[in-house]
Amino acid sequence: MKPSRPLLLDQLPEEWDLGAGPDYRRKQVAEWLFEKRANSVAEMTNLPAAMRQHLEATYDFAALKLTKLQGSHDTTRKLLWELRTGDYIESVLIPASLDLFGERSDRFTLCVSTQVGCAYGCKFCASGLEGWKRNLTAGEIVAQIIETERATKVRINNLVFMGMGEPLANYANLMKALNIINAEWGVGIGARHITVSTSGLAPQIRELAEQPLQIRLALSLHGATDEVRQQIMPVNRKYPLAELLAACAEYQEKKRKMMTLEYILIEGVNDSLDQAAMLAKHARRLHAKVNLIPYNTVEGLEWRRPSESVIDQFEDVLKAAKITATVRREKGHDIDAACGQLRLKQLKADSSEVAAI
Ligand code: SAH
Ligand code: SF4
Repeated sequence: MKPSRPLLLDQLPEEWDLGAGPDYRRKQVAEWLFEKRANSVAEMTNLPAAMRQHLEATYDFAALKLTKLQGSHDTTRKLLWELRTGDYIESVLIPASLDLFGERSDRFTLCVSTQVGCAYGCKFCASGLEGWKRNLTAGEIVAQIIETERATKVRINNLVFMGMGEPLANYANLMKALNIINAEWGVGIGARHITVSTSGLAPQIRELAEQPLQIRLALSLHGATDEVRQQIMPVNRKYPLAELLAACAEYQEKKRKMMTLEYILIEGVNDSLDQAAMLAKHARRLHAKVNLIPYNTVEGLEWRRPSESVIDQFEDVLKAAKITATVRREKGHDIDAACGQLRLKQLKADSSEVAAI
């Protein structure tokens, strides 16, 4: 099922087809969408009736339907959404105590998806298990923020593109969404509070370095040599480490921003101390900090996380090399916090009913 009409949220205000009318109407529509958080075009009462009718006929309004909400206020909450096409995606809301950046307690980070499924097939990841289905539109990306705030009544101050999909493989829609999210007239989250995570698409990392927004970059490294990395990340054959790290160095050079290297620790695969030493070397070159993520179990995959003592030793190698490293011990473990897992369950249970809320 393909939606025949764009979402109002898919377009920038200057692109909106409002029928006729003066330009200040664009500002009014933006206020209804982003400030007053209207639930429908019918609520936009300061617009002429004819304009409202025209908008109703031209655009879809609702991008997402909340299908499941797991977790509570102090924990990681996971939201499963149904799209207009009948596909499912998920977002994860993380309170500050679990925050990747260790910020204040009134802060919430939202982890958003950019694609339905993922084509990159990393061997440890639930998102890639069913392959790639489609890119999300800009509006479907933006709507995850607006609808999460509506459903949970929190204000989101930090955004990470670490949900389902490879953001840089959906580059045009990602950039459009980032512009709407960053804009004063839009969602209004500052670029410095936005992190895009990639599995390592070197050309798009270079492209990102050229655009003006000062967004943060996180690289899912997960292996510090080609040999180890390509065992678990097929993308490494296309963009081997030398090329990838050169692109990241260029990003760092241009943006002067601290990047993050993400490193999932998987027992017997990438947890040797030699890998830790190489990882430290890469981090130093890129002026990057390192997030160590003990592997989250995914149903149907045989990988395991290393023991606490192996994790500690790995971390110690980085610390001894004066690299800022944190171990992200996810409290969301028990609610399928690793991205893609809730959707996977949904797909498996698709014929059976889902607890509606
Ligand atoms: N495609 C992008 C963004 C989405 S994945 C990327 O790969 O960076 C976001 C993060 O979740 C990545 O660092 C990914 O490696 C991590 N992740 C995926 N599966 C995981 C698992 N089972 N346990 C822990 N982290 C996982
Ligand atoms: Fe895709 Fe990222 Fe998962 Fe790899 S880790 S399969 S790129 S979502």
